Amino acid sequence: MTTTKFLLEESKIPKAWYNINADMPVPPQPVLHPGTKEPVTPDFLSVLFPMSLIMQEISPDRWIEIPEPVREIYKLWRPTPLIRAVRLEKALDTPAHIYFKYEGVSPVGSHKPNTAVPQAFYNKEAGTKALTTETGAGQWGSALAMACNFFGLDLEIYMVKVSYHQKPYRRIIMQSYGSQVYASPTDRTNYGRALLEKDPNNPGSLGIAISEAVEVAATSGGAKKYSLGSVLGHVLMHQTVIGIEALEQFAMADEYPDIVIGCAGGGSNFAGFTYPFLHQNFTNGMKTRVIAAEPASCPSLTRGKYTFDYGDTAMMAPIVKMHTLGHSFVPPSIHAGGLRYHGMAPSVSALVDHGDVEARAVQQTATFEAALQFARAEGIFPAPESSHAIRVAIDEALKCKESGEKKVIAFNLSGHGHFDMTAYESYLQGDLQDYDYPQAAIEAAMTELPQVAF
Ligand SMILES: *Cc1c(COP(=O)(O)O)cnc(C)c1O
Repeated sequence: MTTTKFLLEESKIPKAWYNINADMPVPPQPVLHPGTKEPVTPDFLSVLFPMSLIMQEISPDRWIEIPEPVREIYKLWRPTPLIRAVRLEKALDTPAHIYFKYEGVSPVGSHKPNTAVPQAFYNKEAGTKALTTETGAGQWGSALAMACNFFGLDLEIYMVKVSYHQKPYRRIIMQSYGSQVYASPTDRTNYGRALLEKDPNNPGSLGIAISEAVEVAATSGGAKKYSLGSVLGHVLMHQTVIGIEALEQFAMADEYPDIVIGCAGGGSNFAGFTYPFLHQNFTNGMKTRVIAAEPASCPSLTRGKYTFDYGDTAMMAPIVKMHTLGHSFVPPSIHAGGLRYHGMAPSVSALVDHGDVEARAVQQTATFEAALQFARAEGIFPAPESSHAIRVAIDEALKCKESGEKKVIAFNLSGHGHFDMTAYESYLQGDLQDYDYPQAAIEAAMTELPQVAF
């Protein structure tokens, strides 16, 4: 019988995160203040984040020790399994071996607690009383709600108003962990009140929710800090437990991947899975191909410009060099698959620009087709986000069928799709359409980029 599940003991939970800053083939670009457009100082960031996380952001050390209380909580779901998808291989009739790392086994069903737990830990250690954050559909909010509950921190979550009403289940999870969840825009912030005055029925957006969460933290006199679930360097680094475990599991399987794939919204699960393999490419002569998968309707890596742009819509967040569709980007309303951020983590962007990482955009009907093919073969309903990676993995496996090559292909299954069944319903009813984000909209947004001297 072929072994399909590669499982590690709890003692194999990684003891350190991998910091790619140490191996980046290009020097880091400065992070700029949104007002002065000059490089930010740690002081500016310390209004929002504890100093320990800011130091991780700029640390040159290759390995950063994981605190023991964090490893204790990781034990609730880590190490996660590496699974060989033999039934999918059969269904595709491919000679390729397909593996996936399954992060859907965490209590909230995605990779996001890998960073929510350390962020809550470092804030607690720094004396923070409460965290603020934003959430769209609630994947990040529910992960941070669980983490804050474990460390006895209060949490205020600004949830996009349409999702608050249309997607109640993750909201109820957040509230059950003890967090306060507000439908954003709210009357709790200057920014929210100004928007509601203009339009009391404003449906909200992720950009608006970020601005409210940041305003509450910035005006709290230090009692409240802000927490972000993707894009920042320390967030990507916390996720590297995924790839570090996977390396050990491939050793158990006596294989090594030729191709590793992750879906990319802000870049955190992609980086967490693939950076430890890039480390092997950079320092150990390995030649694994690394592919980031994104939606054709939100194509920041494949069609965005690599340039300096604001991290948020309200132009209050720092300016960073990244692949961007422009900070005014509004995801097309017909898009059902998540991964809606206008930009991308700076390190992922730099690695794509330098040629170390390939980027590929996929259409949403092909993405849901892959999701169902995977569910019917392996039984697991993948999150729509993760399904972008599955699409690329299946395409690579089908190429192997053509060429007869026996490549080892691995992807990160960043979460399950149990709360995303309305998106599956839309697909089954034939309501989803393919969509290429219009070039004219990208070019128009490029005229609004900040003018910087770097
Ligand atoms: C949030 C989320 C993503 C996208 O975020 P990244 O930071 O790009 O990883 C992908 N998959 C799942 C399951 C998510 O919850």
